[in-house]
Amino acid sequence: MKIHADFECGNIRFLKQEENDIYLTNEMRGTVRDKAYYWAFCVEGAAGKTLNFRLDREWVGPYGAAVSHDLINWSWTESSIDGAAFSYTFGADEDKVYFAHDLLYTPSRLNMLLNELGIEPYTVCRSLKGRAVPAFKIGSGKNNIILSSRHHACESPGSWVLEGMIREYASSPIEDTNIFVVPMVDYDGVTEGEQGKDRDPHDHNRDYIDDSIYPEVSAIIDYAKDKDISYAIDFHAPSHRIGRSNRVYVVRKFPELESRFDKFSKLFEARSGGDAMTYDMKYDVYPNVGWNKDTTPTFSTYFNTRPDCNLALTLEVTHYGTDDNKVSAERLINTGRAFCRALDDFTKA
Ligand SMILES: [Zn+2]
Repeated sequence: MKIHADFECGNIRFLKQEENDIYLTNEMRGTVRDKAYYWAFCVEGAAGKTLNFRLDREWVGPYGAAVSHDLINWSWTESSIDGAAFSYTFGADEDKVYFAHDLLYTPSRLNMLLNELGIEPYTVCRSLKGRAVPAFKIGSGKNNIILSSRHHACESPGSWVLEGMIREYASSPIEDTNIFVVPMVDYDGVTEGEQGKDRDPHDHNRDYIDDSIYPEVSAIIDYAKDKDISYAIDFHAPSHRIGRSNRVYVVRKFPELESRFDKFSKLFEARSGGDAMTYDMKYDVYPNVGWNKDTTPTFSTYFNTRPDCNLALTLEVTHYGTDDNKVSAERLINTGRAFCRALDDFTKA
């Protein structure tokens, strides 16, 4: 049997095995704060066995691990032992299985989506490690929308929601708009399986400053420099099981923009729920409450301070949800579809 992280988005360190108990830890890699919950590993050669996987921290969600056989389709094992462990019974022909903290959204999945929709990505910049960072444009029209995700590499729910937004727009565009998308801003971090949030000295979503250190952030600012940007949306996921982290919420900026946020939130509430995750604006983070400072140089702060922008926001979508509002890949995608319709409503309201 082999347990490893030798695949895109992989992150694990094997500690020891005692009979059916496998002890593991995740790697921090570049993150300053000791809150790096991200892990993802592959098990090969365990067909027919039942094993207990035990992390050294409480980084396992209520529905067990996310599980996949192809790094594209993911579901829950539904086999949580406690907040730090889960079990899995490998079928007789299950020779290679991937497990992760949450439903991963990998570069392979992104490529599958773009192929399916006939979207041709291009290289928006080279990452610090020399990778070709993908971006793409869809639609046509005079109003510019910017969409992004994975400013924090570990926040896959943002990507699932972005996929839904792209699918919905592709089938039913918002009138007279074009969309520029940077789907995986911290492309190095996503590919290498890093937490990404709270990077040293700061992460990608604290880099909207004059002396930006990340080429991807510079590329977004460059793109927007000579255009009017009507809407700028950044898709994220909250922390691991603290506070409102099992909810869907909007991070609002600037008290003087409250009426815009209220207007959008009501429209998104009306479109959410059912096949999509339920969004309730009572969980929104209000401007200048707690950590949400209007001075923090985030993507949404940057665009909200531009006079051309009608709405810039961060959408946070939970890794897990709750039993009555539970995350699945399909429900995350449908949340993106609902978000697209709400944005369309906003443009018409
Ligand atoms: Zn984030």
